[in-house]
Amino acid sequence: MRLVITGGAGFIGSAVVELAATRGHPVLNIDALTYAANPDTLSTLASLPNYTFLQAEIGDSPTITKALDQFAPDTIIHLAAESHVDRSIDGPSPFIDTNIVGTFRLLEATRAHAASRRASEVRFLHVSTDEVFGSLGPTGSFDETSPYRPNSPYSASKAASDMLVRAWGETYGLAVLISNCSNNYGPRQYPEKLIPTVIEAARQGRPIPIYGQGTQIRDWLHVDDHADALLRIAADGQPGETYAVGGRAERTNLDLVRTLCAIMDERCPDTDWGRHENLITFVKDRPGHDQRYAVNTTKIEQALGWTPKTALREGLAQTVDWYLGNPGWIDRVRAQGFTGERLGHADPVGAV
Ligand code: NAD
Repeated sequence: MRLVITGGAGFIGSAVVELAATRGHPVLNIDALTYAANPDTLSTLASLPNYTFLQAEIGDSPTITKALDQFAPDTIIHLAAESHVDRSIDGPSPFIDTNIVGTFRLLEATRAHAASRRASEVRFLHVSTDEVFGSLGPTGSFDETSPYRPNSPYSASKAASDMLVRAWGETYGLAVLISNCSNNYGPRQYPEKLIPTVIEAARQGRPIPIYGQGTQIRDWLHVDDHADALLRIAADGQPGETYAVGGRAERTNLDLVRTLCAIMDERCPDTDWGRHENLITFVKDRPGHDQRYAVNTTKIEQALGWTPKTALREGLAQTVDWYLGNPGWIDRVRAQGFTGERLGHADPVGAV
């Protein structure tokens, strides 16, 4: 594949760029470098073989059109997005601009690029979330046939972009694919998200914030397994199809945080606060907080032979080790203005 990857300076995008480039695919990473992109991530990627970076907004049609003309990709993996639910509650506007309007403009640029290539297909993989399906009760799981019931401005904007992508396939014959994935974890995740928030707070002996009673259930997937799934879908998925991706690793938020605390106990046994679990603090719940997500991955397993490789405990331990081993990465985020302060509607950060 000759790949354009949007959002490649972010958490999941950087894992996709890394895996694709090390597998020998030429990659052009297009990223606007919003607050969510870390310069350290970019410099890690810079030494990859066959890798080029372009700083641009996906909604900047002239720049994107020129980039597609010059690089001539046969496959586009679209990850660029505003991705944090709490931010979408406090200020939905950028979510509409990037996730909906930006995706629309990128689809149009891709359509023009595909038309210019005539004989050869251009594949467009839109990377979406299981949050578009809303919240599950105590049983059952999401799959490719689940109805859309987004509950937050973030998930509504992703749902809208899924619909645009589908329509560009049906109406214009673009070779579109959609993936809906569960919660990811791993290195290089912006520290406003739950797992890095917990590790940072535990490292510093600060309160570890958990929304409500921590009973919400999420299905966790290591980011490298997600990257592998995306490259398989991009290469071998059937245009027009959707693929549900997940880790088959459901945990309540409280269980997940306790596991992280136990790993921190092993890594940093001598603390002034005793066991790291002592730092857990319950804070006011997020409005519209989905209770449970779970994903049935039968289709991608059977159609593309993909299964997650990383066991949750092992992946969490590796993630803790990465954060403990890369304090400079977090310092860079802080230097750019991230304080870990509350965003407004709830007490301390700690969102999933
Ligand atoms: P992230 O916030 O870490 O990274 C997003 C990247 O997109 C950043 O590098 C940012 O600079 C870039 N970006 C934002 N707006 C842009 C614009 N207008 N033009 C160009 N670049 C822009 O996000 P993430 O967690 O890596 O998520 C990546 C994608 O995967 C998103 O589409 C998200 O909806 C989806 N997803 C995420 C998860 C998860 O658990 N994090 C799960 C399922 C799906």
